[in-house]
Amino acid sequence: MKFLSVDDSSTMRKIISLALKGAGHEVIEAEHGKHALDVLSSQTVDCIILDVNMPEMNGIEFLKARKAIPALASIPVFVLTTQDEEALKQEALSLGAKGFIVKPFQKEALLAAINSGI
Ligand SMILES: [Mg+2]
Repeated sequence: MKFLSVDDSSTMRKIISLALKGAGHEVIEAEHGKHALDVLSSQTVDCIILDVNMPEMNGIEFLKARKAIPALASIPVFVLTTQDEEALKQEALSLGAKGFIVKPFQKEALLAAINSGI
């Protein structure tokens, strides 16, 4: 599968990339929500891993923008954040996120969440 990893931390993008590539997946990256929309205007992916706290366009704003774009609305999104808050989780899920994973995460937990959610 081809993943888009959206996170403003290059270290986090590297960790996510390594985990997914190690499981045989292809990964492309974006630094924030707006950048992700740019990337998705020219490339398709099977799944999006989305940070919440980002400059320009945060994860919640990205989920709202994604809902309004038919070509993107069906791509599964997993939110990956340090903010372990029930209200944020519920908002993300109500905006169409398939899953909510809290950092720091174990590689196995990320892969299991993705596999069970797709
Ligand atoms: Mg961040």
